[in-house]
Amino acid sequence: MSSLNWGYEAHNGPDQWQKLYPIAQGNYQSPVDIKTQEAKSDGSLQSLSINYNPSSIKSIINIGHSFHVISEDKEDVSVVKGGPLKASYRLNQFHFHWGPSNELGSEHTVDGKSYSAELHLVHWNSEKYSSFAEASKNLDGCAVLTVFLKVGNAHQGLQKVVDALGQIRTKGKQAAFTNFDPSSLLPASKDYWTYIGSLTHPPLLECVTWVIFREPISASPDQLNKFRSLLSSGEGEKESPVLCNHRPPQPLKGREVRASF
Ligand SMILES: [Zn+2]
Repeated sequence: MSSLNWGYEAHNGPDQWQKLYPIAQGNYQSPVDIKTQEAKSDGSLQSLSINYNPSSIKSIINIGHSFHVISEDKEDVSVVKGGPLKASYRLNQFHFHWGPSNELGSEHTVDGKSYSAELHLVHWNSEKYSSFAEASKNLDGCAVLTVFLKVGNAHQGLQKVVDALGQIRTKGKQAAFTNFDPSSLLPASKDYWTYIGSLTHPPLLECVTWVIFREPISASPDQLNKFRSLLSSGEGEKESPVLCNHRPPQPLKGREVRASF
């Protein structure tokens, strides 16, 4: 397989991930298509308590198929709790998924419709487990807050992230990225869907309580193009842009998607 967007080319053909990671065909895989008429409105779901502190954000790194904005993982400085979560979950990193054009790019879909990109704020259950690695081996180990990006006006909070990409164009590059409030990437409405699933990239571990905000944020065509200017190639290698890094929806296999609204 080419190093370009590792494995993502296989979307509609043989899934190479299934050979390497048998859990790819497990019962709790992500993403999924959210069928809004089938999502069960659950009045017992409380609102989320999201407490992000800009001081926890430290750096940005090109990991080859995407980039991560890293939150310091020493103390509970940036946390989320409440909603479907039965513990406090610490922010570890956030990243995006996108596609070759603005017509697709999100991992989750809503009634079959893709958004242009998808933000994942990745947290782990620091109340119950001692590390992200340990947490990710358990169904209640991680929580991912998810925001859809819809093509439209430029987004001010997102621009700070986009502006930093020039410093980490090639694989492995890392740069300081500080004093950023991840809350600036959340939509105004905190209505969400939730279900239990997996990481969407190998090792595809089934450890995630997904919280998917119904309301998208906007991103301009230029901002989305900047994502696609990221390279999966290292410095000095033949340039290979990351045009596609989203996994397609997986079967629900009887799981319930609940709605907070
Ligand atoms: Zn992700």
